[in-house]
Amino acid sequence: MATNAYFQCISGCDEKHGLDEVIYRCPKCNNLLEVIHNLDELKKKSADEWKETFENRYKSNEFPYSSGVWGKKEWVLPGIKNEDIVSLGEGATHLFKTAKLDELFNQDVYVKLCGNSHTGSFKDLGMTVLVSQVNAMIKSGRPIKAIACASTGDTSAALAAYAASAGIQCVILLPKNKISLAQLIQPVSNNAIVLSLDTDFDGCMNLVQKLTTEKEIYLANSMNSLRIEGQKTVGIEIIQQLNWQVPDWFVIPGGNLGNVSALGNGITLLYELGMINKMPRIALAQAQKANPLYLSYQNNFEEFHPMQAGKTLASAIQIGNPVSVNKAIRALKKFNGVVEQASEEELANAAALADKSGLLADPHTGVALAALIKLKEKNIISKNESVAVISTANGLKFADFKVKYHEDTLEDINIRYQNKPVEIKADISEIQKIVNKKLEKNK
Ligand SMILES: *Cc1c(COP(=O)(O)O)cnc(C)c1O
Ligand SMILES: [Zn+2]
Repeated sequence: MATNAYFQCISGCDEKHGLDEVIYRCPKCNNLLEVIHNLDELKKKSADEWKETFENRYKSNEFPYSSGVWGKKEWVLPGIKNEDIVSLGEGATHLFKTAKLDELFNQDVYVKLCGNSHTGSFKDLGMTVLVSQVNAMIKSGRPIKAIACASTGDTSAALAAYAASAGIQCVILLPKNKISLAQLIQPVSNNAIVLSLDTDFDGCMNLVQKLTTEKEIYLANSMNSLRIEGQKTVGIEIIQQLNWQVPDWFVIPGGNLGNVSALGNGITLLYELGMINKMPRIALAQAQKANPLYLSYQNNFEEFHPMQAGKTLASAIQIGNPVSVNKAIRALKKFNGVVEQASEEELANAAALADKSGLLADPHTGVALAALIKLKEKNIISKNESVAVISTANGLKFADFKVKYHEDTLEDINIRYQNKPVEIKADISEIQKIVNKKLEKNK
C-alpha cells in the first residue's frame, strides 16, 4: 500500500485502506472514508516552492499538469502513474470578476466558473481522479467491469465522458423526468448504460449502493472520497488566481454535500502547508425545497433529519438525504460556516440579475447568489468583505430555465429582470422605432 495517501474513516477508526481497495465505508463503524495525505512528505517542499510549482504548471502544455486538478497531482493522488491518468483538461477555469457584477451586487464578488469544463460542471474535477484510479486498477488486473453512479444529471455526464474516453463501461441511474434535456443527452451520447428510474435521486442513490455491493461494479458517487480529492482543487485554484490572497467568504450551493467538504479540505491543506495565513468563512446555500442542512443549522447541527426533497429549479441539488452530511457539518464548523436557503423566486431572480453582468448563471449558482444577497441583508456578510461564489454548472445546460424565466412562464414566480425578444416586421423603420424606444428607456 502506498503510504503517501490512503483511505481512513472520518470518525477516526485506526485502520488504513489503500486507494486501490474497492471500499466506500468504514468496515468497523460504517461512516464515510476520506483520503489522508502524508503532510510530512508534502512539507518537504516549502510554501514558496509549492506556489512556484503550481504557477509553472497552470495552463501549461505539459500532460497531465495543464489540468487544474493534475497541476496539483501530489496533493490529489500522488501515487498514480501519469500514463494512467484520464484527463479531459478539467479545471483551470476562469474566475469571473467585473465592475458591473460588483455594482449589481454592491459587493466585491468573484464567480468561479466551474461550468466552463469538459462536461459543463464541477463534477469533472472529481471524476477525472476517480476514473484515473479505476483505470490504473483495471490495468493492473483488477476485475472491474463497469463504473456506476446515481445522479441528478451532472455526475452522470462527467462519469460517462471520462469512462468513455478511458474505454470503460459505465452504468447511470437517473431519476426520470427530473434532470435537464442537456444533462440526459450527455451520457446517452457517450454510450453509457442509462437507466431512467421512476424514483427521485435519493431512491437512485439507494439502488446504486446495492448494485455496487459486488466489487466488479465500482461506485462513482461522491461518498467515494476519490471524487473529493479532485474537487478540493477548486478553492486552491481560486486562491492561486487571487495571487494567494484569501477571500473573506466562499459561497457554495450544496445538495449531496460532498463539494463543500472538498472546498474545506483544499483550503485546509493550503493553511497547513503555510501557503495562506488566514482561513475564510464558508456559506453553504440550499434550495428551500431541499433544505435539510439549513434546518439542521437552525439547531446548531445538533440534529439532522433527512427529508423528502421538493421539486426545485435547482434540480442538481434536489436531495433530501445527503450522503456526505457528516463531512459537510465538520467543514462548516471548521470554517465558522453558515447555511442559507433560497426560494424558487429568489434563486431565479438572483441568476437573472447576475446575467445582466455577462454571466449565464445556472439555477444552482442562482441559489448561491440569492444566499449572498440574503446574508448581506442579515449583516452576516458585510459590504466590505470579498466573496468568492462557486458557480457549479454551465447555464447552457439549463437553457429551459432561462427561456421560461424571460417568457415569464415559471410557475408562482414574480420575475424582476425580464428581457423578452420583440417580434416585429422585418422593416427598418419599425426596427428603428423599437430600438430608439428601448435606448430611451435605458437612459
Ligand atoms: C452536484 C451539484 C451540486 C451539489 O454538489 P454536492 O457535492 O452534491 O453538494 C451543485 N450544483 C451543481 C450544478 C451540481 O451538479
Ligand atoms: Zn469507522
